[in-house]
Amino acid sequence: MSVSQSWPAFLADQSRQRRAQGLWRERRVRDERGVIDFAGNDYLGLARDPRLAEAQAASARQYGAGARASHLVSGHLEVHEALEHRLAELTGRPAALLFSSGYQANLGTLQALCNAQTHLFQDRLNHASLLDGAVLCGARSRRFHHRDQADLERLLSRAPCQVRKLVISDGVFSMDGDNADIAGLAKTCTHHQAWLMIDDAHGIGVLGEHGDGSVGQAHDVASVPVLVGTLGKALGTAGAFVAGSHALIEHLIQFARPYIYSTAHPPGVAAATLEALDILRQEPQRRHRLVTLIGRFRREAARLGLPLMASRTPIQPLVLGTNARVMAWAEQLRTAGILVGAIREPTVPRGQARLRITLSAAHTDDDLDALLEALERLLVRSVAEAASS
Ligand SMILES: *Cc1c(COP(=O)(O)O)cnc(C)c1O
Repeated sequence: MSVSQSWPAFLADQSRQRRAQGLWRERRVRDERGVIDFAGNDYLGLARDPRLAEAQAASARQYGAGARASHLVSGHLEVHEALEHRLAELTGRPAALLFSSGYQANLGTLQALCNAQTHLFQDRLNHASLLDGAVLCGARSRRFHHRDQADLERLLSRAPCQVRKLVISDGVFSMDGDNADIAGLAKTCTHHQAWLMIDDAHGIGVLGEHGDGSVGQAHDVASVPVLVGTLGKALGTAGAFVAGSHALIEHLIQFARPYIYSTAHPPGVAAATLEALDILRQEPQRRHRLVTLIGRFRREAARLGLPLMASRTPIQPLVLGTNARVMAWAEQLRTAGILVGAIREPTVPRGQARLRITLSAAHTDDDLDALLEALERLLVRSVAEAASS
């Protein structure tokens, strides 16, 4: 019988392997001084808007810093109720339910909707919380090729007709920045009597005529019955919601364990989110500014010959391939005062390590110039190095 490793040996061994693969992850305390942030998801520049901070403080003074209990016990407050109504209204759905995070919303929704008789079909590039949710809920889960309707169609037509089917896709893919074909997915789902669930974490606030996202009012509840959005990205706060029919929301309240067994969202955060929704409505210029910045970044990056992806959203990845190259570029950008995401496997497939550059309405033209100039210097240097080796 083999003797298993001791705990200290196990930890040491795992960390050695991670480092050897170039996959060691480190947190750094963010230094706000003199650093331009192209790594966050604060697409509308709301996270640091003083009006949100003020709303948060006022609500904390009224209700306290924390909700004191879960929503079903005594933690469900007026401000939560008001926020749920506003989120339902924004997305054109009858009802919405708040969760403490997008990760929990996805886990809770899959766990409440699925069992061993459910078949799940997910885009290969869906967010980790959806892939993890599929494992935890015990449903049979298949992944279709990225944005490939024919592959989805093939998998759906093989599933027995008596099982319940749920097709899941990100609305905007978090690491590639491209969009799901929601109308196409909805049509395929209708044809196969499957439900469609869209996680629009990166679309809410950014896309759609009113910032209602990739799904929003353009697709009704019948075509996208389950809509997930998060509050920690374009809306600048924290938490998430599921929007859909009253029956769906009631079902989640009864059965979604991450909802039931977690302390309610802090009231100040809900109040700040209500403020963010007001600003979203009153200041459409933030979304227009973002569109201008995205256009300019893509034009100038293309002119420099940078490896852009097919993204029309604020997520603009540059795939550099190797972990070492991505880490070196990110480090050199940091030295130049520019923060970008350095994304490696398992977040993206092996060989597709990338810089994840995100744009925000809060960026100035000078910020964008600084980014483009720093990228140009790196590109020139890497071409010179390749020529001399
Ligand atoms: C960020 C993200 C989540 C998780 O949301 P949190 O509120 O940060 O837990 C879920 N899905 C997608 C697509 C995301 O990008």
